[in-house]
Amino acid sequence: MTATVSGPDASPTPATPPTRTSPLTTALAQLSSAVELLGYDDGVHQMLATPRRELHVAVPLRRDDGRIELLAGYRVQHNISRGPGKGGLRYAPGVDIEEVRALAMWMTWKCAVVELPYGGAKGGVAIDPRGYSPAELERVTRRYTSEILPFIGPERDIMAPDVGTTEQTMSWVMDTYSVNSGYTIPAVVTGKPLAVGGSLGRATATSRGVVHVTAAALADAGADLSEVTAAVQGFGKVGSHAARFLAEGGARVVAVSDQYGGVHAPDGLDLAALTAHVASTGSVVGFAGADPIGNAELLALDVDVLIPAAVEDVLDEDTARTVKARWVVEGANGPTTSGGDRVLAERGITVVPDILANAGGVVVSYFEWVQAQQAYWWTEREIEDRLEQRMRASYAAVAQRARADGISLRDAALVIGVRRVAEAHQLRGLYP
Ligand code: GLU
Repeated sequence: MTATVSGPDASPTPATPPTRTSPLTTALAQLSSAVELLGYDDGVHQMLATPRRELHVAVPLRRDDGRIELLAGYRVQHNISRGPGKGGLRYAPGVDIEEVRALAMWMTWKCAVVELPYGGAKGGVAIDPRGYSPAELERVTRRYTSEILPFIGPERDIMAPDVGTTEQTMSWVMDTYSVNSGYTIPAVVTGKPLAVGGSLGRATATSRGVVHVTAAALADAGADLSEVTAAVQGFGKVGSHAARFLAEGGARVVAVSDQYGGVHAPDGLDLAALTAHVASTGSVVGFAGADPIGNAELLALDVDVLIPAAVEDVLDEDTARTVKARWVVEGANGPTTSGGDRVLAERGITVVPDILANAGGVVVSYFEWVQAQQAYWWTEREIEDRLEQRMRASYAAVAQRARADGISLRDAALVIGVRRVAEAHQLRGLYP
């Protein structure tokens, strides 16, 4: 494609280089790789690397004991060329602007890969939600929402849950936005409870999508879910359901973990009993039906399929060397660093990349938004069929590009996503 911008004067704010090894380093390196494959020039590269808008907000919180605490909040709209910004809201202690930038960029490519009419965005508040009461979390959410109010909306930027946030969080965001507008606007967020306009199938969508692409990747190698063993890192919104759907598909899930530790049962975990244990204790640790295992050991288990479904940067150059799985399917955003990716590729391990593998969540978010806009609700069957169709078609397109160009699935997914965004830029032209 020809440049739509070029030269230093055309873009006075270059992509800010990351200050440390971080998800942003990984995201920018991935973009550079795609830009090189696509043959774009520096101007286009810079435009794709740089968020359109970033909001930094101070979120003052009155604690239950009366003290005032000041939290840092962010919302980054990485790209809005293909439609409104779309992406989750993360509550975690280490959240900073660079992490949110990376996550927003991944949302842009993810939405483009699965052909949703969205750009990419992400929000975050630097808070450990486990240390706060529900009333405090409600106040944080409402104040954060009101600070970013003019920048969000069903046609501007649509939030969803991410690490540390829930359906309830989305309900508070929706209410704050709606009360300020004077009427109920369900389409401002997705991942809401069903009772306030959420969608059937949204809560399990990311996990279902992970398992659909796992099955498709296995089929490409002549294998089937019913023949494989799997380990899942993370037992939260994504990992817990992914483990269940893998087992339902016939896979033997031998290990899972959470931030406190993991459990391992070589003959397969009793996931129903484990889920009951987690419901009563808050962690997989201490589950009587399995042996304890550390998170690093889980990554190195001798299984066929490894699903990192927790946080970023867990598969770096060192941990990637220990992986014995033949397939790594990224349920989390950014679990593999660039160094980790290189090592996995050298070792012949197939990586199904995050922007494809975990896109099921935002696919059903899109269905939820469409339903809310039409005030007409689909059945669970319709949602799950459409989700499966979209995930399998997206996987097939990415795998086909990878084969045709002799590149990794990650590069193929990036090339497809980045090209769609660049085409939208080019067709719309530069204003003024
Ligand atoms: N937080 C999820 C993700 O990273 C879902 C985003 C959405 O549905 O907007 O993909």
